[in-house]
Amino acid sequence: MKPSDPPPPEYAFAYHSPPASGNDINGLGVTESRRAEHVFHDATGGPLPHHALDAFFSYINPWGVVRHLLANTWRLRKQDGPVNPERVAANDPEKMAGEIKAEATRLGAELVGITEITDEAIYEGHEVSYRYAICIGLSMDRNEMVHVPQTRAAVEVMRCYRRVSRIAVELGEKIRSMGWPARAYGNPNSTDILHIPLAIQAGLGQLGKHGSIINRTFGSNFRLAAVLTDLPLATDRPVDIGVDDLCLTCRRCVIDCPPQALSDEKQLVRGTTKWYVDFDKCVPYFVKTFGCAICIEVCPWSEPGRGPGLSDRLLARRSTSGNDRED
Ligand code: SF4
Ligand code: SF4
Repeated sequence: MKPSDPPPPEYAFAYHSPPASGNDINGLGVTESRRAEHVFHDATGGPLPHHALDAFFSYINPWGVVRHLLANTWRLRKQDGPVNPERVAANDPEKMAGEIKAEATRLGAELVGITEITDEAIYEGHEVSYRYAICIGLSMDRNEMVHVPQTRAAVEVMRCYRRVSRIAVELGEKIRSMGWPARAYGNPNSTDILHIPLAIQAGLGQLGKHGSIINRTFGSNFRLAAVLTDLPLATDRPVDIGVDDLCLTCRRCVIDCPPQALSDEKQLVRGTTKWYVDFDKCVPYFVKTFGCAICIEVCPWSEPGRGPGLSDRLLARRSTSGNDRED
């Protein structure tokens, strides 16, 4: 998929008084490992370097987006709650993980993976006392998303966040009813954690050149929520579906990104070399278009039904060229 009428790269939308570079705050070029800091979205309402743009984003969102946002926020008031004093025994983490995944699927989740929470997935200035994250993914309606960067795609994004939040909230309630602490995280209240690193660790996909997670089945056409818990669970492992093999030669998202925020080279960010989105170029355009999302929808992995065959071919090509990667 490629937008038939992509916006021009030159756009009349810029900061009147540019704040500190989001790339500097994100640690672009920084060699030592450290936690990410909030730059833009942060539901705590605390001071943000790019607060003005964040507030402007909130003010200009169309009603179709706002109504899902309000319903989502209302749902997430139940992200935490009382824990049943009578605890269900959980002596078999493997079996318990299977039961929790089955429950998430019954609630509507299309992707579920479990990981231990690592420091890189927690924002600077925040603490998380839970041991595990249950990462949940739900696909967006592709018929709506092909209209990026128009309003109807933005509405679909927020509709999906609302639906995946419901699953997380209900799964958290289920775990608390079993006597184990659990807290649901959906957007826009994920102030403590970074969903993408957790989801990658939990095996939901790999990071693409466009800076988003790519799943074998849904590409990047899905949204994330999570439940953090201490319920003992067997964890999943990161997957290798061949994302880097394709990203090293594909340029689709780089070409189609209107403000040219994507790069063909991985970059050093807080001590790790990885794909990176230029914050200062992306976010003004992202705000202007109520969430943009062009890069994730033009990605070949997001084409329905294409991912599994693509992954099989990329991995087969790698093994025949004697270029196997280690996990
Ligand atoms: S979301 Fe950002 S990086 Fe992706 S296409 Fe839009 S402006 Fe470019
Ligand atoms: S569009 Fe191409 S380069 Fe960009 S993330 Fe997808 S596969 Fe990688």
